[in-house]
Amino acid sequence: MNIKLPTSLRASVHAEMARSGRSLDAIVRDALASYFETSLHTVFQVSTSGALVAGVYDREASVETILDHGDFGLGTFTGLDGEMIILEGHAYHADVSGTVTEAPDDAGVPFAIVTRFTPEQETLITSIASFAELEALCDPFRASGNIFYALRLDGRFAAVKARAVSPPPPGTKLVDAVKTQHEFTLTDVDGTLVGIWSPEFSGPFSVAGYHFHFISRDRRQGGHVLDVHADHLRLQVEPLSNFHLALPETEAYLKAHISGDTAAALAFAEHDHQAPGA
Ligand SMILES: [Zn+2]
Repeated sequence: MNIKLPTSLRASVHAEMARSGRSLDAIVRDALASYFETSLHTVFQVSTSGALVAGVYDREASVETILDHGDFGLGTFTGLDGEMIILEGHAYHADVSGTVTEAPDDAGVPFAIVTRFTPEQETLITSIASFAELEALCDPFRASGNIFYALRLDGRFAAVKARAVSPPPPGTKLVDAVKTQHEFTLTDVDGTLVGIWSPEFSGPFSVAGYHFHFISRDRRQGGHVLDVHADHLRLQVEPLSNFHLALPETEAYLKAHISGDTAAALAFAEHDHQAPGA
């Protein structure tokens, strides 16, 4: 696209590039999105991590609604039935064995976090031998600890250790539900990590820190990522500074006792752990 701009607008664009350190592409994209009232850099989240911790896994939205608000993200399904991966406008369901199928539009969603992925930075990262190394290699691409980020990593993975939850009895708290999760390791597989980084202050309603779900390039395997080994990955990062939270209206949610102190339960549920007795 070649566009002729008057000198005054060109000067304004250059001043904004100098002020913000952002690229011409990013500034023009944001300006056009604003003109056409398309929301960019917006997180859309259904329900809260605190509700999940309290055992509220009812249907709060449909997959169709989630896809109306984003083409990239993660979540779970009604009854905590597996892991959701949203990539390139498709919603996928990873069952307890890590087998992926495309989720029907009317499938129920108790929790999801999505965005319209428009990355601002792209780079290659190398030699990832653990989840901690993945976090450390992504850290420099987050300029702030006070906004959200979407992160996409593509490439060949030597190993991805993942889990998928199986539906617990209704009302089971998250910390107990994940004790029956199934863990599996995929090896020598092409695929994508779909990630959201959330600020520490968002812990009571989101999942603070990095949260990655994996899906293989053939869209047949995936899950919630616990550990990762890879040599070369292409990383794309988008800062997200608008947050839209859709709170449920179900009876289970309205009557649940949701504590603000979910950090310990979420740390246990979301990260690699040895389940007691397993
Ligand atoms: Zn997850």
